[in-house]
Amino acid sequence: MTSSPTCADNAPWSPPSAAFTRFFDPEQLGQAITVAHETLATHLAKDDVEGIRLELPGALLAEARALMTEAEPEGFDAERFTAILDLYLRTGIKVNSRGYMGRQFSSVAPVSAVFDMVSAMAPQPASFYEAGQLANVADKIIAEEFGRRLGWPSNSFEMVSTSGASLANMTAVLTARNRHFARSWKSGVAIGPRGRPAIAIGEDSHFSVSRVAGILGLGEDQVVRLPLNVQRQISVPAAATALNSAVERGLDVFCIVATAGTTSIGANDPLEALAQLARDRGLWLHVDAAHNGAFLLSDRLRERVRGIELANSFCLDAHKTLFAPAACTLLFYRDRGLAATAFPQTASYVLDPYEDEISRFESGTKNFECTKRPSILNLWLTWALFGRGFFETKLEHLVDLTRAAHDDLMSLPDFVVAHEPESNILCFTYRPSDAPRDLDGFQLELRNRIRAGNRYFISKVDLDGATVLRIVLMNHRIGRSDISGLVEEIRRHGREIIEDWSAHEVAA
Ligand SMILES: *Cc1c(COP(=O)(O)O)cnc(C)c1O
Repeated sequence: MTSSPTCADNAPWSPPSAAFTRFFDPEQLGQAITVAHETLATHLAKDDVEGIRLELPGALLAEARALMTEAEPEGFDAERFTAILDLYLRTGIKVNSRGYMGRQFSSVAPVSAVFDMVSAMAPQPASFYEAGQLANVADKIIAEEFGRRLGWPSNSFEMVSTSGASLANMTAVLTARNRHFARSWKSGVAIGPRGRPAIAIGEDSHFSVSRVAGILGLGEDQVVRLPLNVQRQISVPAAATALNSAVERGLDVFCIVATAGTTSIGANDPLEALAQLARDRGLWLHVDAAHNGAFLLSDRLRERVRGIELANSFCLDAHKTLFAPAACTLLFYRDRGLAATAFPQTASYVLDPYEDEISRFESGTKNFECTKRPSILNLWLTWALFGRGFFETKLEHLVDLTRAAHDDLMSLPDFVVAHEPESNILCFTYRPSDAPRDLDGFQLELRNRIRAGNRYFISKVDLDGATVLRIVLMNHRIGRSDISGLVEEIRRHGREIIEDWSAHEVAA
């Protein structure tokens, strides 16, 4: 009788050591959470006006290296963990500070951040129903809630969640490309009878939009720039002219990308008129509503994105103006059935060839991502716990505060406001009567010195070649007194710059 070999006859094996499995102990989890809770509670309780502290990369690298253990750790090193958390909180932007006015990242609902930890501990890749069931169901619930606000009949539209508006913009334009050039997915993008495939985008489009042309094989040269009006929205008559001349140049424009909430000033393009223009010409209209799409949840602000419901597709970033941990982006298609045409692959091991109840909830076929965090649950959880009013209240507060900041700056003789705010973004310049002649250089130097001063963090942007200062009010703790504080900070640095620069001129 021959005995068949057993596993034990092959490679040696023993279970992992207790020293190793300890890293996964619930006890260590508890210790880590305690440290994190203490650190974060102190962080949130701070009422400081703090900007950004830029460390030189070399110094930070050394500091981070010094925090790495050399020896085999004995138990949980709470001290080292605390030091790492402190280093994280000290460097980078401080979205919870009242001095934070420079970027579109938001302070988040703490409970959604806690859930983010839970979903990291118990990961459920959300692209596949079997792996992330609740996330796929939450996609449907969030879609239905927005569908109601858009006036779209249920089951007539679709929503896909992605990690970031950059990815959502790419996916939407890809869907449009596949619809207009049916062979492009299989055979590649080719010059057709009507010319080279091209897209048309506003002059103030986000850089991720023009990038799409390179990614999808259209080529950057095939990006038609649509001129803006004085409010920095796409000018509809000028857009019509630009589209006509694109035809003359042998371009086959298949998609217009408009913006609701431009990165520079937060402007909303005239969506109704652009939808009409697109429809008349048989073009796809995609709206990059990364920033202002959230207005749909406010009864008062939704009017500002009127017409978004007429677009073929639009996206919005919940990690910006819905205060969810990043990245959580919603991509809507007005017509059901289109989402699956972005990536028209068949016969994959993830795709079931038949439509059943489960496969209808499967999102992986409609999404570029394979492993995708279930970030939709961060949004859904906040909604489930606090209701839609949570988003509405914070958003309206931020928009109102920006309006107040606009009015405050308008009343000051040494400030020039660049636009009426449509959103929570405001651009302006500081121009006292004795301002240096190099106004652009002056604004840039102001931004740099304010940043170095580490009280306020603001940004700058170029509008038609002129440098302007820019604030984005994402933190509801910021009050009107912080706007006055910023004004004083700008004036103080302004005086110093003028003195330094005139001393320099005298010396030269
Ligand atoms: C932030 C933003 C993007 C990029 O979105 P990510 O989520 O950072 O990828 C694109 N367009 C607009 C208008 C934005 O505000």
